[in-house]
Amino acid sequence: MSLQAERAAAIDAVVKASRVCQAVQQRLVAGSTLQKGDKSPVTVADYGAQAIVSHLLADAFPAVPLVGEEDAAALRKVENSALREQVVHAVRSVLPALDEDAILDAIDRGTYAGGRSGRHWTLDPIDGTKGFLRLEQYAVALALIEDGQVVLGVLGCPNLPVSATDASGPRGCVFVAVHGEGAFQRTLGDATELPIRVTDIRDPSRARFCESVEKAHSSHSHSARIAAELGIQEPPFRIDSQCKYAAVARGDASIYLRLPTLPGYVEKIWDHAAGWMVITEAGGRVTDIHGAPLDFGQGRRLEHNKGVIVTNGAVHAPVLSAVAAVLEL
Ligand code: AMP
Ligand code: MG
Repeated sequence: MSLQAERAAAIDAVVKASRVCQAVQQRLVAGSTLQKGDKSPVTVADYGAQAIVSHLLADAFPAVPLVGEEDAAALRKVENSALREQVVHAVRSVLPALDEDAILDAIDRGTYAGGRSGRHWTLDPIDGTKGFLRLEQYAVALALIEDGQVVLGVLGCPNLPVSATDASGPRGCVFVAVHGEGAFQRTLGDATELPIRVTDIRDPSRARFCESVEKAHSSHSHSARIAAELGIQEPPFRIDSQCKYAAVARGDASIYLRLPTLPGYVEKIWDHAAGWMVITEAGGRVTDIHGAPLDFGQGRRLEHNKGVIVTNGAVHAPVLSAVAAVLEL
């Protein structure tokens, strides 16, 4: 299956949306806009990124629907006109011809229900909003799903160092993977793609593991016990968003644990689809805590899965055993 046109359009959309997010985040760095508890900058970037990606994809592939995290219902309310104007301004910085109605309609294209038949896109316009507000890591995550299978993933990581060994060096990565074609890293500014691969570590005690910064999103206490069970001494590498999938895919770490906190929480497809494609094509493996594959054909959420375990593949079996022992599965 050739997905050349879809791949090119997805990269273009993610790069443009990432640039807008970067500009909004840079205004935060510059100071002032952010009062304590004020989430409006992330809201502007979130809506703006969804409008840009959705509009560009609808232009290129009008028949392919979108499962996006956001919708424009709140933005259409009279009392939110100031926020709406900021979103319009942000979107027009890359798509100057779009009017307000077109922008709101583009955001609302994201309400598709998903499911197992046909093609649809899924988008998290800003994954890791808490990281975005802390001026740390976040991702623009876009994937194409066909008959319930992820076939293409593009992850924009505007703040991620290009090289993990040079944390103060240049930032802004894009990870791209198509089913059967391998995984690649490029930068936001340079389209040259370099292949990436997971580590070849086989001894789990030597594996570095990553997890959410937010302990509400993944149990830190369970992960500490799982690491101890595996003989891992190094402390966890905590970063927000699907940058964790990218970190394992390019070998910065070998394990990513997402361990349930709330009993009733069901993971969303946009939080995993793009990362799943990138890590799978980089040679890694993803299951839930029970060892079951993630099922992206269930609608907007991963209804049949609990938690997420990502590894370089080689250490997957011992990691699942340690997870089962600690969580008493
Ligand atoms: P991260 O940056 O990896 O911590 O993940 C951010 C994502 O966590 C957000 O996009 C939310 O969709 C998701 N999230 C929110 N609450 C929970 C929860 N209780 N358990 C797991 N994920 C959650
Ligand atoms: Mg998210």
